[in-house]
Order: sequence, then structure tokens, then C-alpha cells
Amino acid sequence: MTITIPAKTAAVYKDVDILVVGGGPAGIGAAVAAGRSGCSTLLLEKRGFLGGNITASYVETCNHFMHSIHFEVSGIYAELETQYRARFENSGDIRPNAANRFSSEYLKIFLDSFVQSAGVEVCLHSFVNEVIRERDTLAYVLIQSKQGPVAVRAKQVIDCTGDSDVAFASGVPFDQGRDKDHQCQPGTVNFRIVGVDSAALMAGGHDQLKEIGRKFREDYRAGKTGLACKRQDIPMGRLTANGLLSYINYPCAYGIDPTSFKDLTRGEMECRTYILEIVDYMRSHFPGFERVELASIAPEIGFRDSRRIHGDYRLTIDDVLNSQHFDDTIAVFPQFYDMLSPDANMNEGSPQDAGYNGYICSYPKDDLTFEIPYRSLLPLGMDNLLVAGRCICADHVAESGIRAISACMYTGQAAGTAAGLAVQRALTPRTVPVPVLQDSLRSQHCKF
Ligand SMILES: Cc1cc2nc3c(=O)[nH]c(=O)nc-3n(C[C@H](O)[C@H](O)[C@H](O)COP(=O)(O)OP(=O)(O)OC[C@H]3O[C@@H](n4cnc5c(N)ncnc54)[C@H](O)[C@@H]3O)c2cc1C
Repeated sequence: MTITIPAKTAAVYKDVDILVVGGGPAGIGAAVAAGRSGCSTLLLEKRGFLGGNITASYVETCNHFMHSIHFEVSGIYAELETQYRARFENSGDIRPNAANRFSSEYLKIFLDSFVQSAGVEVCLHSFVNEVIRERDTLAYVLIQSKQGPVAVRAKQVIDCTGDSDVAFASGVPFDQGRDKDHQCQPGTVNFRIVGVDSAALMAGGHDQLKEIGRKFREDYRAGKTGLACKRQDIPMGRLTANGLLSYINYPCAYGIDPTSFKDLTRGEMECRTYILEIVDYMRSHFPGFERVELASIAPEIGFRDSRRIHGDYRLTIDDVLNSQHFDDTIAVFPQFYDMLSPDANMNEGSPQDAGYNGYICSYPKDDLTFEIPYRSLLPLGMDNLLVAGRCICADHVAESGIRAISACMYTGQAAGTAAGLAVQRALTPRTVPVPVLQDSLRSQHCKF
């Protein structure tokens, strides 16, 4: 059954040059680049804080997969890392490679000033799922506020919602999940514990957490754990001297459509039952965990993939593996893919299987990189909309590489810069001269 919704009126809150929707890694890159271009820029975020998955889902290990290579991060991501470290150092983290991790709590505070100092107006608690489209242009974007709908007019709009909610509302076609059944990677509710015996776990400079994780996986595979959750790995993040262990990436719910409120409800609740179970298990099976307590559960279930727009170019896993060169490249990233099987199958899968047969993962190696073309940020049929982050135009396995937090910030920075050029030159994103965009990104210290 359907109903027809009566027409409503909405106050127009602002008329800006550039509107960025979504304040995660991509939205931060986009908003900061747009603000610095001198264009009036508004950033809308549905939650009460910025950071996206890093802060809302405790994904604090932004670049852990890069620790064994020499890839030099650049652009706004590099600035963010440097400025964060200058203020919060390693946020009390005593594990090796701490420089690849943030504290999501300090990061929330840091991002407020980092984004606003670029001249960006930030509106939190601003959920967007409706637009007014006139032919190929977004005339208005509507915030669903507690006071009713509020409209924003913008010359250029950048969708950084992770789920491409703005593009979806605009009618842009999309893919979701793997080709055969549209299943996505599982949703995960990360959590934190306190009371870990940090001194024992780091005794003699040896990180025992790695060994504990290895044994857990072995026991799971041997059918010894008796746990209900199908996740066979237990990556763990930040450990402080005071016994706080953060980013425990274990509880996974499978078969969830990240855009369905019914599925999201099931995912959140199912993962909470797994948290209770695994905390008990840790206490009784992990050395140094005998006295732990559950400290906090991430505010929201996190997703590694959902909608991926149809754009002017679909980046494929073959492009990634062949280091395909593009004339319109706007970012270069280490060759990397990491896709949890939608079926919880931990057998080693091949990227060419497109996620059908197991866990598809390859960590970066020195000198192997891939390029991201600007055309993948341009949604089909739209003249004032760009998309950045994990929902750009890519196939399912390629997405598992471009979803890396720093890569999302690179595509965000490129989209923000392109939108700035489009406003300044009265162009559409599609007609922005690519060499000018590339020069501008290089002048912002982006390396590609
Ligand atoms: C459990 C887990 C582990 C991961 N591990 C790693 C890792 O170790 N390293 C790594 O690099 N990556 C990792 N990832 C992937 C990474 O977190 C994401 O790919 C990345 O955060 C995507 O960035 P984004 O900006 O595109 O989207 P998001 O981080 O999802 O940010 C989107 C933002 O938009 C907001 N938003 C969404 N919809 C709307 C709307 N309609 N209106 C207004 N605002 C909206 C959200 O609140 C959010 O702030 C992991 C992900 C998960 C879930």
C-alpha cells in the first residue's frame, strides 16, 4: 500500500555556493577544500558530530593496512594527521604503529575546529533525504529537521553520505552489493572495554594482542569457541596504559541492507547480543582480560559498502590490479582490497570472484598503486552534483579498496576542489578543465 504525501512549504535556510552533505572522511575533505577555495560552503551532517565511520562506528585504525609500506599520505588527510598528532600525540595509545590510529573522541573535538577554520559553516543534526530536481540540476536540498523541512539552495552539491542518499533522492541509478544478489559486506558494531591488563599485554615490548587474535581465529575455525556470531576474526585497536581497549571490530550482522530501517534495527540488536557474548568470552579465554568491563558501544552500526552510483566511469577491480592510468586521475592509492564475504565465508577468495567465494583481501605492497579517475565522481545525468567517498562509481571489489578512509578523503578533496572551480568559472563539474583541477590539487600538496 502507498499513500500520497501532501505538498509542504519549507523555509529556505541558506543560498550557498557549495553544499556538502555528510561529514565523514569524504565530507571533511570536500568541505575543507571547498571552503578554502573561497566559496561559501555549508556542511550538513545527520549526527551530532563529524567523522563518519571513524567517530560513529569507532573505526579508529585509519591506515593500519599501510604500516608495512612507504606510501606517503598527502593533501588534507596528511594535514589532518599532522595537526591531530601535534595536539593529541598518540592519544595515549601504547601499541606499535599508534600513528595510524586516532581516538574517535578526541577526533570529534579536533574536527569541529579543523573544518570550521576552513571557513565552512557546519550544521549538525541535519538529515537529508529529499531534493527538488529541475531537469539535470538540483534546485534545492531539503534538511529533515525537528522543526520540519528546511531548504538549502546551492550552486554545487557534493554527496558524501556514504550511501549516496542525495544522488538516490535525485534519481541517479546505482548498484548495491555484489552483482549476483546485491548482498553487502556485513554491518559491524564496534565497542570498547576497560580493565585490560595493559602492562602484561605489552610486556617486553611484545604486542600480545596480535597473538590473542591469531589464536582466536584458529579456535574459531576449529569450532572451539561456540560463539553465535559468524565473524572469525577479532581485530583490536587502541590500547592505553589505563586499560582501555578501543575499536574491537568483532560483532557482525550478515544479510543486512544498509539502507533498510528494518534491517538496520535487526543489525544493531543482533550485534549487541554478540557484544555481551564476546565480552564474557574474552574474560574467560584471553590472558590479561580477566577483569574487563564493557565501556561503550559505538553510536551506530557501521558499513563498509552500500549504494555505489552510476557515473561517467566505473572503476573496476581490473583497473585497480593493472594500475590502469587515466588522463583524469585525481588520486593515487596503494593497491589494496579488503572485502569481508557477505556469506561469512573465511576461505581465501579471489578478486575476480567478485566476493562470491570467500574473504578477498590483499594488503598493499610497495610500488603497487592504483588511480582514481575524476569521472567516477560524476553521477550520470546531473549537472551540479558530485559524489565522493565509498559510494563513487566502482564495482564491488574495487570499492573495497577505495573505501579506505584516507582514499575517501582524497576523493572528497578532489570533489570540493572541482566544485570550487565550477563555481568560480560558472561551469558544471563535467566541464571543469581536468588539467586545471589536477594542477589545483597538486598545489594543495596532493600527490598523484
Ligand atoms: C567495521 C568497519 C571497519 C572498517 N575498517 C577500516 C579500516 O581499518 N581502515 C579504513 O581505512 N577504513 C575502514 N573502514 C571503511 C571506512 O570506515 C569507510 O569506508 C569510510 O569511513 C567511508 O567514508 P565516507 O566519508 O565515504 O562515509 P562515512 O564514513 O559513512 O561518512 C558518511 C557521513 O555522512 C553522514 N550521513 C549519512 N547519510 C546522511 C544523510 N542522509 N544526511 C546527512 N548526513 C548523512 C553520516 O552520518 C556520516 O558522518 C571500515 C568500516 C567499517 C564499518
